[in-house]
Amino acid sequence: MTAALAPAEAPLLSVRDLRKHFDLRRGLRRLTGDAQRHALRAVDGVSFDLRRGETLGVIGESGCGKSTLGRTILRLIEPTGGEVRFDGVDLGTLDKAGLKALRRRMQIVFQDPYASLNPRRTVEQIVGLGLSIHEPRPAAAIRAAVVDTLGRVGLSSAHLQRYPNQFSGGQRQRIGIARALILNPEFVVCDEPVSALDVSIQAQILALLEQLKRELGLTYLFISHDLAVVAHVSDRVAVMYLGQIVELGPSRSLLREPAHPYAQALLAAVPRIDGAPAARQRLAGDVPSPLAPPAGCRFHPRCPHAMAVCRQAPPTPRTIAPGHVVACHLYEGGAA
Ligand code: SF4
Repeated sequence: MTAALAPAEAPLLSVRDLRKHFDLRRGLRRLTGDAQRHALRAVDGVSFDLRRGETLGVIGESGCGKSTLGRTILRLIEPTGGEVRFDGVDLGTLDKAGLKALRRRMQIVFQDPYASLNPRRTVEQIVGLGLSIHEPRPAAAIRAAVVDTLGRVGLSSAHLQRYPNQFSGGQRQRIGIARALILNPEFVVCDEPVSALDVSIQAQILALLEQLKRELGLTYLFISHDLAVVAHVSDRVAVMYLGQIVELGPSRSLLREPAHPYAQALLAAVPRIDGAPAARQRLAGDVPSPLAPPAGCRFHPRCPHAMAVCRQAPPTPRTIAPGHVVACHLYEGGAA
């Protein structure tokens, strides 16, 4: 989706036509010329704005590019093209020092609390590392900041000298959250933060993230494949398919009445509590390869409503209600 999806107020984060293509022949180098033909288009023209204090949920099937989107926004991986502005600053114009200074305001909570924590470092070292890089200070001051941050996530000074393998999954994710928060960021990418946890623990971590958002005024990009989780935490939702946003709108209305056939199919796949049969068409077939995405609308090989035009021309994003945009030929001309 390449249309600007601007909310009313100045955004904290503004993403325009962001692209990340991987050259499978040559690793992760920047793509030029012929290499484009061998490009895996993980993120392919994504645009949206994010208000301060807002949570934007990003949903889609595995491999749709949502995690790459989060990492590319933070410039943990270099974009192939497009623009990311944070608080009005174009990240692409910053040198290494400028990017380092801005990056402390933008952090990430990773999916896997087992793999994302260095098993040979103590909690004090893991959580304090960012502070010692960005704000070098005496060890006692770093320890005090670590203890303070641990307290925010439900841990304490008793945990300082322990190693990750001495904690449960939920506690490890609390350590991961503390590591992200110690630099007092304004924006946090939550990349599937509960998907590796038991269901009983997921609710605790989601409640913690919501509490921290309220207390610290955080802004989240919340990436998940789990619609129930996204519905619980998000103010708005973006639906991704093959590297593109196909629908973006207010959480309540989009999840109640999704407009795009892909979003409808995603919701139809969620079991209903009352056991009633899903009213909408379920998803059929596999996601096509992002190496060779279908021409026209990328969803057309799986779409029950596909028309001739869908195989030929990509749909243009249309606003179908205030703040609700969908990219589908069914909505071109104003009729659904
Ligand atoms: Fe289906 Fe066509 Fe809409 Fe794509 S543009 S989702 S193929 S109806």
